[in-house]
Amino acid sequence: MAASVATGSSNLHSGFNTSRRLQGGRQLACTNSPALSFNGWLHKDLSWSQVAFKVLEMPKKCNLSQSAVTRRLSVSSCIGDGGSTKYFDFAVIGSGVAGLRYALEVAKHGTVAVITKAELHESNTNYAQGGVSAVLCPKDSVESHMQDTIVAGAYLCDEETVRVVCTEGPERIRELIAMGAMFDHGEDGNLHLAREGGHSHRRIVHAADMTGREIERALLQAVINDPNISVFQHHFAIDLLTSQDGPDTVCRGVDTLNTETQEVVRFLSRVTLLASGGAGHIYPCTTNPLVATGDGMAMAHRAQAVISNMEFVQFHPTALADEGLPIKPKKARENAFLISEAVRGDGGILYNLSMERFMPKYDERAELAPRDVVARAIDDQLKKHNDTYVLLDISHTPREKILSHFPNIAAECLQHGLDITRQPIPVVPAAHYMCGGVRAGLEGETNVRGLYVAGEVACTGLHGANRLASNSLLEALVFARRAVQPSIDHKKSSSLDLSASSCWARPVVPNALGTDTMDTILGKTEEVRRELQSIMWRYVGIVRSTTMLKTALERVDELETQWEKFLFEQGWKQTMVALEACEMRNLFCSAKLVVGSAMARQESRGLHYTIDFPHVQESMRLPTVIFPSAAVNEMDSMKLLVGVFGTLVLKMVTDVTLVGSHADVRNCKFPAMYNFGDSNSDTGGISAALGEIPPPNGETFFGHPSGRSCDGRLIIDFIAERLKLPYLSAYLDSVGTDFRHGANFATGGSSIRPGGYSPFHLGVQISQFKQFKARTNRLRNQRHLPREVEFSKALYTFEIGQNDLAYGFQHSSEEDVWKSIPDILNQFAEAVKQLYKEGAKFFWVHNTGPLGCLPYSVIYNSDPNNLDGNGCVKSRNNAAQEFNRQLERKLSQLKEQLPRSSFTYVDVYSAKYRLISTAENQGFVHPMEFCCGSYYGYHIDCGKKAVVNGTVYGNPCTDPSRHVSWDGVHYSEAANLWVANRILNGSLSRRAVSVQEACKHI
Ligand SMILES: Cc1cc2nc3c(=O)[nH]c(=O)nc-3n(C[C@H](O)[C@H](O)[C@H](O)COP(=O)(O)OP(=O)(O)OC[C@H]3O[C@@H](n4cnc5c(N)ncnc54)[C@H](O)[C@@H]3O)c2cc1C
Repeated sequence: MAASVATGSSNLHSGFNTSRRLQGGRQLACTNSPALSFNGWLHKDLSWSQVAFKVLEMPKKCNLSQSAVTRRLSVSSCIGDGGSTKYFDFAVIGSGVAGLRYALEVAKHGTVAVITKAELHESNTNYAQGGVSAVLCPKDSVESHMQDTIVAGAYLCDEETVRVVCTEGPERIRELIAMGAMFDHGEDGNLHLAREGGHSHRRIVHAADMTGREIERALLQAVINDPNISVFQHHFAIDLLTSQDGPDTVCRGVDTLNTETQEVVRFLSRVTLLASGGAGHIYPCTTNPLVATGDGMAMAHRAQAVISNMEFVQFHPTALADEGLPIKPKKARENAFLISEAVRGDGGILYNLSMERFMPKYDERAELAPRDVVARAIDDQLKKHNDTYVLLDISHTPREKILSHFPNIAAECLQHGLDITRQPIPVVPAAHYMCGGVRAGLEGETNVRGLYVAGEVACTGLHGANRLASNSLLEALVFARRAVQPSIDHKKSSSLDLSASSCWARPVVPNALGTDTMDTILGKTEEVRRELQSIMWRYVGIVRSTTMLKTALERVDELETQWEKFLFEQGWKQTMVALEACEMRNLFCSAKLVVGSAMARQESRGLHYTIDFPHVQESMRLPTVIFPSAAVNEMDSMKLLVGVFGTLVLKMVTDVTLVGSHADVRNCKFPAMYNFGDSNSDTGGISAALGEIPPPNGETFFGHPSGRSCDGRLIIDFIAERLKLPYLSAYLDSVGTDFRHGANFATGGSSIRPGGYSPFHLGVQISQFKQFKARTNRLRNQRHLPREVEFSKALYTFEIGQNDLAYGFQHSSEEDVWKSIPDILNQFAEAVKQLYKEGAKFFWVHNTGPLGCLPYSVIYNSDPNNLDGNGCVKSRNNAAQEFNRQLERKLSQLKEQLPRSSFTYVDVYSAKYRLISTAENQGFVHPMEFCCGSYYGYHIDCGKKAVVNGTVYGNPCTDPSRHVSWDGVHYSEAANLWVANRILNGSLSRRAVSVQEACKHI
């Protein structure tokens, strides 16, 4: 069969629109929007927490002039637009390990502001106990550290990230030591390396059990001594300042509230690093200090950054349960006191309040099982017995041993009347670490230009579904360092505009409300905060279910609505800011990001456990991704939003402001594009070679048969559009065509290896390209041909591979298909190398799509056990994902072999899977209903209609824009646009590179 099928693959993206679904589109979950004027009472349309700061987006009238933006500024401060504005080259939000390490490095290249919401040292870093992992012992290896990380991460880690972090770790530790950090040494004078759970070697560098404090001390000392760094403590970052540059969102600084003077201070910067740490305080019991309220994730989400993997919240199983202490602390603790895992390691036994030992019932490793297993077991006991804590007993161990191993714990408990050498310790699980966050590329870059992230706020792919102990300080150190060079580069190409400050409306401090009203508001906010935490603990805790998550979402939405209503009734205005209120809206936002992600993951993996899907599912081995709401913009034209996101988004979308002054400064200028592929990107090649595809293909958009297996544009067309190039002419259809901006060599049915459905396999397409190039050079100066130099500046795109798998499934066994993948990819690599020899440098590679989700796969599948929860054929999708994993590795190898090349691996699989799994919520009909278009030479019999599991598929389409599949094999124009919107802005590229930036990362 000549099925040329979509290529692509990779991450599962959970759209974060669950609240909209449940609420019929009334509420938009914490998204950013541009300047809005509110008519009437805002609550009807927009909630304060969601849009109050939309005013921070730069409105149209403030186009930055080129002259203004080129002025070089050093630290300065001015008051002109109703408040104070400061100008820095680099703004760093957060003074934990990530922020400080980065600040010290970029300070060598410009002025730096370190902005932090409380005292300088107050951070998760300061509380870190165990240490930092790194391969420093000769018996250890990077491979072993990688393996431990990947196993702990439940195989959801990004392998490239893991390699980078494990490889660069040791150097980062040496740098810390050179800066003055003092770690423990053994008797031999070498660093003392401890071993922790999940690590197969001794590799934990530590300073007693106060490692974080020592790191923080050393870094702070260096920061304070650096004349290029200015520190702003008690400055709460409210929101990032952004503007639009063509399709890109650009970060231009941050608004802050000085919580001591109650003054709003604006920081304009060329580069911004978000290093604001975690979000432990969305839960009532957390080991995190009070500053960890998810501000960074929420701010980034509002600023259109991509968020990933938020469902993976790590709970530490044993925090001290204050209510079980004989003498309760006088004041509720801000953060739970940690009872180290070493207590269990040293023989501590867990009992419920009836003094029954329970761990052996749950896991054969009993108390020594991994953190997540122990936390789940405790959770189960608490729920079963309706208790609020369990007991951890170490009293059977000799007293001296306890006191020498756990002096801090013993002292803390004794203060509250509990002698741990004689009595069990009351413990309860506590939120500890966020594995998810703002999606970052390998250099800490985000999809928002000028915004970098590092540390706990980031999701780099290192931790996957669970964090290996002591890997987080390491990740922060590595990424803070890696973000430096791109930040310096960005700084050079961007500028500060003195006049820009007045372009964003300023938040205001609610002085006008008076003390009594403010007290009422703050009291209510405190109450609401506790209620939110309790909802999160109850419904989105250690063990989850679909019903619990839905309940959580409803209750969080309801609570937020009530809270806002209350605020506005008290006279609160949209532009008002107060620390507690801002934190509250960030807590709401972060909580929703967690719930939304958790709802999307229909399996149990790592830290996410749901009773409705208790097992790991291979087809779900993908990160969840929450797209920026702006990605929705272009969909407006396809009318896909109506009834899904509601008018709220459409309003927001139409108000998006464009500020064009920086246009093209950063974007790559691709003069041409050459595509190699199968029918997913065939823009007429097969028809030119073999005769037209019969109608109705291609009629809708072009008005006449165009030879596309689609009712209109393909992803390749949207790429051209985004690069501002004309649509590509098919190479085989060369009569009268214009190849000035490249050519499309893709043909339907093509595969990478010869011997598939079509004679035009990749090798042939490359030969055609070479002929084309040679001939172009001979016919130099023809107006319809590209110039020679342009071949090396062009973008080379690939959308091929799916037919190799489809053909294999049709003609051989599953096992053979898997075995064939290395050879297919070797041939792919060969093709790339040939192009490289011809001067090609910039490669944009789509991975292969979810083959098993195509209606034709489903129709011809005879085994109902082979279908996943979304009705896709598991075995085919598994093969596609294996292909994609190996493709990604192959691209890394190619990158090493071809030094001047730049590769962007694009996760089309995820986008397509996401579309199929949520089609109806996105405004499409059931994804298995296809349009009855036909694809070349083959027809699924629409006359009789295909019947799968009792459902009839394949009705003729009256409205193709609501169909995912055009003909059972190919995607409709509407679906292609949906996918293109998600891949072209870099959300699904491994390094968050948009197609306009695909020349970077050489
Ligand atoms: C009790 C405990 C023990 C731990 N033990 C270990 C361990 O042994 N090993 C390990 O690797 N990891 C450990 N971790 C995790 C690790 O400490 C953190 O993940 C890491 O320190 C995060 O560093 P960071 O720089 O990203 O964030 P943080 O250190 O949390 O710093 C964030 C900074 O951002 C500031 N900030 C936040 N919001 C705003 C805002 N709106 N405006 C301005 N500033 C803001 C905060 O005030 C703070 O200064 C532990 C964590 C805890 C809580």
